[in-house]
Amino acid sequence: MRLDKMLANMGIGTRKEIRQLAKAGRITVNDQIIKDVSKHIHLEKDLVELDGHFIQYRAFIYLMMNKPAGVLSATTDRYDEVVIDLLEDTHLHFEPFPVGRLDKDTEGLLLLTNDGKLSHQLLAPKKHVPKTYYAQISGKVTSEDQDKFKRGVTLDDGYLTKPAQLKILHTRDHTSEIELTLTEGKFHQVKRMFEALGKKVTYLKRISMGELILDPELDLGEYRELTADEVALLQ
Ligand code: URA
Repeated sequence: MRLDKMLANMGIGTRKEIRQLAKAGRITVNDQIIKDVSKHIHLEKDLVELDGHFIQYRAFIYLMMNKPAGVLSATTDRYDEVVIDLLEDTHLHFEPFPVGRLDKDTEGLLLLTNDGKLSHQLLAPKKHVPKTYYAQISGKVTSEDQDKFKRGVTLDDGYLTKPAQLKILHTRDHTSEIELTLTEGKFHQVKRMFEALGKKVTYLKRISMGELILDPELDLGEYRELTADEVALLQ
């Protein structure tokens, strides 16, 4: 790959800015100052540095966001703020996109990547990647509801849901807190499953996707890169 392309892909600057950095003698390849940015480099073997700092080439980026309510899980929208608007330039130039969708009013774990293959794997219905949600429900959630979700409930469009695991965290007469694990992702599925029981979801947050758990250190709207171990969990 050309040196200027590699550095531009890593978000170092525009091609013009990179030419200027090279002219100023700030770019080295294998400890040699390189002024001609059209030089071809070997991504695995060559050591590229800017001001003595190693520039690691990578094609893919994997981000975990704690999505806030009020923001769309999309790359662009004419009216609303989208999750991409919350990213810094250093991550934006990789052109990440959200893996699947959370409703505008849903919070929690959202994965963003530019790795189309991984995204496809995670969303493929055949893979049944489990997703767990924490929810507050208006109404008393009972052990009968647990049984119903285990057997599957019929949604408003006649679809019978796959077995889902419902854990009751707290239940009072008018409100309950639950965790629900689904292995499929129909439109508004958690809300519609509770509607099928005559109950309403008043707050919804995704807490895990496969083996990946939302980092409790992330405040709403914050994000971080996945560690190599976390990326491996998703493969
Ligand atoms: N189910 C819902 O109803 N909404 C979401 O955002 C995700 C799952």
